[in-house]
Amino acid sequence: MARTDVLIVGAGPSGLVLALWLSKLGVSVRIIDKTEGPGTTSRALVVAAHTLELYRQLDLADAVVARGHEVPAANLWVKGEPVARVPFEAIGRGLSPYAFIDIFPQDEHELLLIERLRAFGVAVERRTELVGFADEGGRVLARLRGERGDETCEAAYVAGCDGARSFVREAIGADFPGGTYRQLFYVADVEASGAALNGELHVGIDSADFLAVFPLAKAGRARLIGTVQDERAERGAALRFDDVSRDVIDGLKIDIEKVNWFSTYHVHHRVTSRFRRGRAFLVGDAAHIHSPVGGQGMNTGIGDAVNLAWKLAAVLAGAGPDALLDSYEVERIAFARRLVATTDRVFTFVNADGRVAEFVRTRVAPIVLPKVVAVEQVRDFLFRTASQIALNYRESPLSVGAAGQVHGGDRLPWAPAEGADNFDTLSTTAWQVHVYGTPSGGLAAWCERHRVPLRAFAWRAEHEAAGFARDAVYLLRPDTYVALADAGGSAEALDRYFGERGLAPTAAP
Ligand SMILES: Cc1cc2nc3c(=O)[nH]c(=O)nc-3n(C[C@H](O)[C@H](O)[C@H](O)COP(=O)(O)OP(=O)(O)OC[C@H]3O[C@@H](n4cnc5c(N)ncnc54)[C@H](O)[C@@H]3O)c2cc1C
Repeated sequence: MARTDVLIVGAGPSGLVLALWLSKLGVSVRIIDKTEGPGTTSRALVVAAHTLELYRQLDLADAVVARGHEVPAANLWVKGEPVARVPFEAIGRGLSPYAFIDIFPQDEHELLLIERLRAFGVAVERRTELVGFADEGGRVLARLRGERGDETCEAAYVAGCDGARSFVREAIGADFPGGTYRQLFYVADVEASGAALNGELHVGIDSADFLAVFPLAKAGRARLIGTVQDERAERGAALRFDDVSRDVIDGLKIDIEKVNWFSTYHVHHRVTSRFRRGRAFLVGDAAHIHSPVGGQGMNTGIGDAVNLAWKLAAVLAGAGPDALLDSYEVERIAFARRLVATTDRVFTFVNADGRVAEFVRTRVAPIVLPKVVAVEQVRDFLFRTASQIALNYRESPLSVGAAGQVHGGDRLPWAPAEGADNFDTLSTTAWQVHVYGTPSGGLAAWCERHRVPLRAFAWRAEHEAAGFARDAVYLLRPDTYVALADAGGSAEALDRYFGERGLAPTAAP
C-alpha cells in the first residue's frame, strides 16, 4: 500500500500551494486530481499583494510579477461615456512591496505552480479521484480511483483542496451554509480592440447592465464579466456569447474579434461549518465561496494553504501537539466569514434593483468615487482590505501580546529603512525573531541555543512610523505572522510562548 504524509486532493491553486509548502518543508505529499490536465481558462485574475508577500517564501513572487500585468488605472463608464478615471499609482504606497494590482490568469498561474512543484520531484497524479476514506485515528486510509483501477493510500492527513463541490467536505459531514444570488453572470476571454483595451480596468454600467473589462498581459486581450438580463438568464448553459446584451459592450466601443472562452455562472456565498475533522482538512473553495468582487477567492485559498502547511509540518516533525492543527480552523474560519459578509454587502449594493440604486450607480458614483479615492486614508483602507494585508489572527490561541501598535497575530508591517528592508528576511519558512533596536544579551543567547535566526534592525524613524516599539521582541511564525509581541524584549517571554503551547522552534530546512 502506498504511504504518504499528506494526501492532497485537488490540484487547483490551493492544493498546489499546499503541496509546494509541504515539499519545501520536507514533508512527503501525494497530490491527485480527477481531471486530465490543468485548467485552461483564466478564472481568477488578481494575485493580491499579500499573496505575493507570501510567495517570497516559495521564491515565486518575482516570477508572478514578471509574467503578470500591472493595472495602471480603473475607469468608470456610464451609458457609453467615460465619466471617471482612478489611477492606481498611489494606491497602497509604503504599505507593501507589491503596492499594485497584479493580473496573472489562473491557468498560467497553475502551470507555474506545477513547474515549481516538479522541481521538488512531485508530479500531480491526474485522472485520479478520491472516492472514499476512513479516518482510523492514527492514520487515514483513502480509496483512490485511477486509470488502472482502485488503490488504497495510507496517509497521516488528508487535505480536501477539492473545490466548491468538495467530496472531502461531504465525507466529514460538514455543512455548507449560505446561499446563491439570483443574478446570472457571464465571463468571456476575448481578443478585441478599442479604447477599453488600453491595459486599464474598465467598468461600464447603464440602466440595467454591468460590464467589467479586465486587461490581460497580452495586448489586445481582455476578460469581460457581465450580467445576463431578462429571459436570456433562463437559458443558462445553452447561452452563447452572441446572446448576451451588446448595449454596454458597444457603449465601451469594444470591437470583439474572437471569443476564446465563454461561460455563465451563478455566484454563491457559503462558508463550511468546519475546516477540520480529525485527520481531514478543508482548504480553499472547498471551505468558502463568495462573489468575485475584489478578487478574493483564489487568494484566500492560497492563504489557507500557507496557514495549514507549517502546522502540519510541525506536528509531523513532533515539534507541535495536535492542538496546533485546531488553530487552522480558528484562524481561517473567522476570516472566511468576514470575507463572505463583506463581499456580500458590496455585491448586493452593486447589483441592487430599483430607481434609487440606479441613480446612485449612474449619477452619484461617477462624481463621488474619484473624490473619495483621492483621499489617502480611503485609498489605504481599500488597499489594506483588498490586498489582504489587514488580515490578522489576533483572536487566535497562537497570538500573544502587543508592543507598539503591533499585536500578536498581525501581519508583520513592512518598514523599509535605510540599509535594511525588514521583508528581506521573510523568504524563510521557519520561526524567527525580529528586534527593532538593540536585542538583550539573553535574547541573542536564546536564539543561538534554539537555532532561531535573530534579525536586529538599527532603530529608525520608519520603524516607529510602522508601529514597532523600540527593543521589543517580535517572534514570527513560519508563515511570517507575528506570534508574540513582547515590549520587554526578554528571552523568558519566548520560553513561555513555546512552553505553554508545547511547541518547539524548528530550524529552517
Ligand atoms: C468562471 C470562473 C471565474 C472566476 N473568477 C474569479 C476571479 O475573478 N477572482 C477570484 O478570486 N476567483 C475567481 N474564480 C474562483 C477561483 O477560480 C477559485 O476560487 C479557485 O480556483 C479555487 O481554487 P481551489 O484550489 O480551492 O479549487 P479549484 O480550483 O476548484 O480546484 C479543485 C480541484 O479539485 C479537483 N477535484 C475535485 N474533486 C476531486 C476528487 N474527488 N478527487 C480528485 N480531485 C478532485 C478538481 O478537478 C479541481 O481541479 C472564478 C471561478 C470560475 C469558475
